[in-house]
Amino acid sequence: MVNDPGNRNGGCCCGAVRFEISADPVLVELCHCKTCRRASGAPVMAMAGIPVAGFRFVAGEPGRFASSPGVTRSFCALCGTSLTLYSEAFPGEIYVSICSLDDPEALAPEIHIWTSDRLGWFETADELPRYRRFLADGV
Ligand SMILES: [Zn+2]
Ligand SMILES: [Zn+2]
Repeated sequence: MVNDPGNRNGGCCCGAVRFEISADPVLVELCHCKTCRRASGAPVMAMAGIPVAGFRFVAGEPGRFASSPGVTRSFCALCGTSLTLYSEAFPGEIYVSICSLDDPEALAPEIHIWTSDRLGWFETADELPRYRRFLADGV
């Protein structure tokens, strides 16, 4: 059920890393940027921006790497699942891959960002607003 906090926990594919979400998302987005594509191995990454105090790892210790200056991503060091993104540009939020939730339907994307990097063969028919880069940059 949408907006049921009980459905917002998640983890990686192999189960070694688990997390809990206890706050409402600030924003749920589909990111088409090249870095999300590489990090996830998928055409887009669906992510929820969660206030940092409302997110915690509860099992396992994820691997981390800097995917761009000021941006740290976490992943399961055993199975490779992309889990989170933290950007110094958005210091109050941690972005969580909603496809790593136990119930990915609990949080639905609201916008597309970084459509300037969208793959030509990947198009969706939803009516969500689209931004060439970040929401804050405008359309
Ligand atoms: Zn794993
Ligand atoms: Zn991205």
